Amino acid sequence: MLESTPVSDQLAAVREDPLRVLVVGAGVAGLTLAGLLRRRGLHPVVLERSGPDAGAGYMLALMPLVDPVLAALDLTEEYARRGVPLARYRIRGRTGATLREYQMSRLLARFGDYRGISRGGMLGVLGSPGPAVSHRATVSAIEQDADVVRAVIEDGSGAAVTGEFDLVVAADGLHSATRGLVLGDDGVSGFDSGWGGWVGWLPPDRDHDLGEELWGDGTFIGTYPVEDRLGFIVCGPRADTRVGPRRFAGRARAAFASPGQRVRDALDVLDRAEPDECYFWSLVDRRAATWSVGRVALLGDAAAGFLPTAGIGAGMAMESAWVLDGHLGGHLDGHPSAAGRERISVALRDYEAHQRPRVEAAQENSRQLARLMFRGGRPFAFARDLAARFVPLGVALRPIQRLLVERPTLGAAAPAGSSPGYRTG
Ligand SMILES: Cc1cc2nc3c(=O)[nH]c(=O)nc-3n(C[C@H](O)[C@H](O)[C@H](O)COP(=O)(O)OP(=O)(O)OC[C@H]3O[C@@H](n4cnc5c(N)ncnc54)[C@H](O)[C@@H]3O)c2cc1C
Repeated sequence: MLESTPVSDQLAAVREDPLRVLVVGAGVAGLTLAGLLRRRGLHPVVLERSGPDAGAGYMLALMPLVDPVLAALDLTEEYARRGVPLARYRIRGRTGATLREYQMSRLLARFGDYRGISRGGMLGVLGSPGPAVSHRATVSAIEQDADVVRAVIEDGSGAAVTGEFDLVVAADGLHSATRGLVLGDDGVSGFDSGWGGWVGWLPPDRDHDLGEELWGDGTFIGTYPVEDRLGFIVCGPRADTRVGPRRFAGRARAAFASPGQRVRDALDVLDRAEPDECYFWSLVDRRAATWSVGRVALLGDAAAGFLPTAGIGAGMAMESAWVLDGHLGGHLDGHPSAAGRERISVALRDYEAHQRPRVEAAQENSRQLARLMFRGGRPFAFARDLAARFVPLGVALRPIQRLLVERPTLGAAAPAGSSPGYRTG
């Protein structure tokens, strides 16, 4: 749980910073950026709409993309302590029978760690150095001129205060309201898979290193271990999930001859679910037409929001925060002058030029997987089962491996004035 700080304390602390930054949203992207900026001696103001007791949320499987970011934050050990290694992946087909099991560790070990952790657990890791966050707080208006970006901050008590910043970062997720303040609806497009899913928790089982997915005909069920339990997601076309979790679970159960214990347990939870016990996600994504407007930048899902299909959105969000910090790092020489402010805009353009093609390629991969996973029809499900038996996982994971081969090399460690480069190896 992150400790809450009054907005007034944060505004007092940031006032004398050479780069006054406001971060809206204390998710994985916002906390990563705030942590990196703090390591540069800054005091970014961080606002979070939800309360400090938001809970574990849902499960995350984090690709090795996050390793250099966590190293820059000096949080490698904390992450290793809380996350669990995901060494194996099992895929079940339309009847529920196992099609194949893969050694993920063999494929990914050369790139680094592949771990499962709850979203709440990851926020705990990123927040463990004790960053200041004001909860139940948000921004309701932004205006900027040549000198300053002014943001109206609402602190949840009904009071509003205007803060002055050199940079505002919208890290408030897929349905970012801050993005809406600067970009409007026209600047945002999206992909709708037509499906949705309930997310919930199960007790842990003995297969603590195994992620399992059932790709059914009109149903998808995934179970993934995190630090102390199993996260699940049960998905179907929204036209079918409309009947509610109980009736959907009943129908899904009837479709599988041998789905395994985890799937049975997840469907049992849906059977008993009280309306607010399992959170329902519409499986849609978002893509912003530009990642900055003047000195307001978009970060993480606010810039390019991910479907959970490739399990890479959080990793990309953290990497983008690291790259943004790296580009900003060269502009910390005293209070920004007019030239300094122009350099911030240049840094934002460079951040977008470096990171956006990578992130959108990953987003496209998540969309392609959604077209494969979230599709019903007997002949298609039959053909997909066949393909799953014979297509090597290395081939299916090729787009992700490409992202891991060509990673940004710099970030928080970038010397002043330098910019992240990309490594190919
Ligand atoms: C069910 C599910 C499973 C997923 N699984 C994986 C996975 O296995 N691996 C992976 O890498 N990714 C996964 N993802 C995607 C990943 O969660 C996102 O890509 C990632 O969380 C994006 O980080 P973010 O910080 O940009 O947004 P978020 O994590 O959504 O954080 C945004 C924060 O902003 C706050 N906020 C929202 N509006 C406001 C406002 N107006 N003012 C202030 N604060 C606000 C929110 O409360 C939230 O705390 C999954 C997503 C879902 C939904």
